[in-house]
Amino acid sequence: MAYCLLKPGSEKPIKKGHPWVYAGSLERVEAEGGQVVEVLDHRGRFIAKGHFHPRSPVAIRILTWRREAIDRRFFRRRIEEAFGLRIPLEGITSAMRLVNFEGDLLPGLAIDRYGDYLSVQIHTEGMDRLREMMLGILGELLSFKGIYERSDAEVREREGLGPSEGPLLGEVPEVVEVREGDVRFLVDICRGQKTGFYLDQRENRLLVRRLSEGKKVLDCFCYTGGFSVSALKGGAKEVKAVDSSWRALELLRENVKVNALPQERCIIEKADVFDFLRGDRDRYDLIILDPPPFARSRQEVPQAIKGYVELNRLAMRRLRKGGLLLTCCCTQRVSREEFFGAVLEAGRSSGRMLQVLHCARAPIDHPVLSSHPEGDYFKALLLRVL
Ligand code: SAH
Repeated sequence: MAYCLLKPGSEKPIKKGHPWVYAGSLERVEAEGGQVVEVLDHRGRFIAKGHFHPRSPVAIRILTWRREAIDRRFFRRRIEEAFGLRIPLEGITSAMRLVNFEGDLLPGLAIDRYGDYLSVQIHTEGMDRLREMMLGILGELLSFKGIYERSDAEVREREGLGPSEGPLLGEVPEVVEVREGDVRFLVDICRGQKTGFYLDQRENRLLVRRLSEGKKVLDCFCYTGGFSVSALKGGAKEVKAVDSSWRALELLRENVKVNALPQERCIIEKADVFDFLRGDRDRYDLIILDPPPFARSRQEVPQAIKGYVELNRLAMRRLRKGGLLLTCCCTQRVSREEFFGAVLEAGRSSGRMLQVLHCARAPIDHPVLSSHPEGDYFKALLLRVL
């Protein structure tokens, strides 16, 4: 059996359930990239099993802390367990994350469902080798019309893997329609952001819908209109939707149309949100801030935090007294505390008092191991600005 011996002391976080072994923790390696290895402490005692890669800074991604066979049955069981967790979402939405990487104890693998189609991400060589087997298991457990692969080229590159995007099985249309309750969304699963839709914002869409009656809403970084459509559906008086991507805004327009919502109440602006907020003179009752990640590495974090302070400050200035701000952060490297700190700082520097109404994380189809805070990338706050 392939194995990796850890340096003395390095086993502690792994024994506590952290699912990553860093390259610097390894004393000796008897394995090649993509193999399942036994993780042993410096005395050779068993700790866990995982997928190994010599080029990745995360050299081993743990699959199990038990001495069990890592075979087809193992993966089928893990996938079934993950699917079981999503049963409460059936009937509520036809778009959900079915497998969420480490959070479902399947590092390197994510599977999203968009109606009759699946989107998969395969980010490690260990999982890449299992592609055919995984497709077989999915065929046994689910019915679908097609599978599209949307692996992140940058992440794969770290393991020396080439980019991998395109149809894997069946025929996949470019745009797929999904249903969330009584709302329809068109999702560009081939070329859209992430795997096409922000599944992690499902509950916040409902929140926005419930908060929008009669309100003037500003949806910043609106993408294809998850929030704009929800606000209109909730009876918003007017929604201004701002994004820098034409393609996203075109799909937003379509999403307003397919839901038979009043198009004249939706004002679409192609702009940089920072520039827009600096130039805007309007006041709003509800503002949504859902920017892209601001940092890709630890070094970029201070700059990212400054970005959050500035963005939130600009938005707070545009709120009426008593107006609401839903502010989100999907930068994995910025912690919950750092993000909340930035938002409070924005309140101070804009001279506004803040009332915290709600804190949010991603919904139940995005489980995170408590021993893996790195997986908990999404945080949001709902505030009332006095
Ligand atoms: N709120 C959306 C998801 C936002 S994703 C939803 O719930 O579906 C982030 C979006 O920000 C993308 O659509 C991207 O085009 C846009 N974006 C990135 N930087 C921007 C900027 N500086 N100004 C405006 N839009 C930007």
